[in-house]
Amino acid sequence: MKEKLRFREYWQIWLLLACFCVMGLAVLLRWRAAVRDLPDGVGRPLAAQEQAEVIARNSPLAAYAYLSPNADFPREQPIRKITIHHMAGDIALERLGEVFGEQDRQASANYAVDGQGRVALYVEEANRAWTSSSPDNDHQAVTIEVANDETGGDWHVSDAAYEALIELCVDICRRNGMEELTWTGDETGSLTIHKMFNENTQCPGPYLEGRMPDIAAEVTRRLLEDF
Ligand SMILES: [Zn+2]
Repeated sequence: MKEKLRFREYWQIWLLLACFCVMGLAVLLRWRAAVRDLPDGVGRPLAAQEQAEVIARNSPLAAYAYLSPNADFPREQPIRKITIHHMAGDIALERLGEVFGEQDRQASANYAVDGQGRVALYVEEANRAWTSSSPDNDHQAVTIEVANDETGGDWHVSDAAYEALIELCVDICRRNGMEELTWTGDETGSLTIHKMFNENTQCPGPYLEGRMPDIAAEVTRRLLEDF
């Protein structure tokens, strides 16, 4: 009886303590998620030597590297696809690195190409970038963001960006044992686009979408020159 009384007297304190425990647990879980085991070099500026080492493991066409934490380390499937996106503008590659560096954004791409044809690396090819609204696709794909020189409309891209995109695709195929790039207009081809996986986006826009058969053919033609 005495115990019961004591509990009744102090129930507010017990409730408060319970609340503290729940809040503490929530904070701990959030903290653990924020500091999940990220590989070295991810989510911070890289020194010139570190950038060179990272680029050496990926495409030598990359002129800049900033590794995004928004990725799965490593990817779960071998590379057998390339997925093309548009940047919806011409964002400086260094600025795009900052954007992909923010964990709250939950977005990244393996590579980006700017309007001058410069290439940047954000997620190493060994890892899965969070780009195409499809984990299944992105675990198999190297994803590329391409800058636009027109905002809206056809979302046109410059000739320099287009040529750099072709060269990057050829290089990715060569290094990953892809003998051809195929465009089927759906996700069964080895060349895919964002809008196949998300009905709410027009990415990569009418201009690049219309050139997909040309991109697949030209990349395959250059790959065949190797043999
Ligand atoms: Zn996209």
